[in-house]
Amino acid sequence: MSNIRIGIVGYGNLARGVEASVQLQPDMELVGVFSRRAGIQTVSGVPAYTMEDLPNFKGKVDVMVLCGGSATDLIEQTPMVAKYFTVIDSFDTHARIPEHFDNVNKVAKEAGNAALISCGWDPGMFSLQRVYAESILPKGKSYTFWGRGVSQGHSDAIRRIDGVLDARQYTCPKEEILNDIRNGATPEVDAYKGHIRECYVVAAEGADKAKIENEIKTMENYFVGYETIVNFISQDELDKNHKGIPHGGFVLRSGETTDGTQHVVEYSLKLDSNPEFTGSALVAYARGIYRLAKHGGTGCYTVFDIPPAWISTHSAEELRAHSL
Ligand code: NDP
Repeated sequence: MSNIRIGIVGYGNLARGVEASVQLQPDMELVGVFSRRAGIQTVSGVPAYTMEDLPNFKGKVDVMVLCGGSATDLIEQTPMVAKYFTVIDSFDTHARIPEHFDNVNKVAKEAGNAALISCGWDPGMFSLQRVYAESILPKGKSYTFWGRGVSQGHSDAIRRIDGVLDARQYTCPKEEILNDIRNGATPEVDAYKGHIRECYVVAAEGADKAKIENEIKTMENYFVGYETIVNFISQDELDKNHKGIPHGGFVLRSGETTDGTQHVVEYSLKLDSNPEFTGSALVAYARGIYRLAKHGGTGCYTVFDIPPAWISTHSAEELRAHSL
């Protein structure tokens, strides 16, 4: 059987994660990277093209993996590319998923292509765990916690404060709440109550650290309402200990079947690199949407619509023998 031919649209952190993951797949090859910028040097040396070249690759790429940002890129790029190719993206603006789905669905249906949106870990693997646990335990409570992980948006917001040279912000679940749930408690928890925001800040020489700390803790929409811890460190320390992009989190469901018979389901991720894991999920599901397209599927889909066997490199017989 011939390999699944993969293209990458947009070349940032996530794209490099996809590029690395494709190298690990026995049934895939990377055809090229397509960027709005000319002259990109790729990590693997795979050729880079510009977006204008995209339509020329119709018939030469089986699945385009869209790696643009959710804020503004994917809303435009996924429907645009779905006109020509089977596509997959990682769109993670949860509130706008229904709107994005409708836009992509319309274009993909008209073009006779298949598209899968909002793959990754959240949305993505966490979404699957929520559906599994809630279907199996209809009477109960679900929880999602994020971290310990870097929040890019919050780190940027701190860097914009006067007197701040560099910063890293980690979102961390509150261990005591996690442990209570693991032990069967079903507390009312929202994002504010359930998480701590831990900040590592490099201040300029002579900057007023108390003022910076106060500005962080009182920043509306970012830190107000959260327990926030601010640590001032040197640039060397930040570069040495805080340059990675780790993330992860927990999905838990605490449910009851008969009176007093309780079950706790927990799924957790501890990721050294958010983009490398997200890219790996996209690549596995690129195989899934490729197969769905081969079965005649057109229009837009999500991870909920792909049978687990379709993301695997193993045959149905192998899965029954070794993974059941
Ligand atoms: P980046 O900012 O690294 O890349 C986004 C786009 O910006 C790229 O496609 C690229 O487009 C452009 N770009 C990248 N680097 C540069 C540069 N140096 N100069 C100019 N433009 C650049 O974002 P990430 O790859 O980190 O993340 C992409 C998206 O992935 C996020 O917006 C997030 O929504 C999503 N995500 C989803 C997750 C999930 O679980 N579902 C988890 C993690 C992330 P071009 O090459 O065309 O210029």
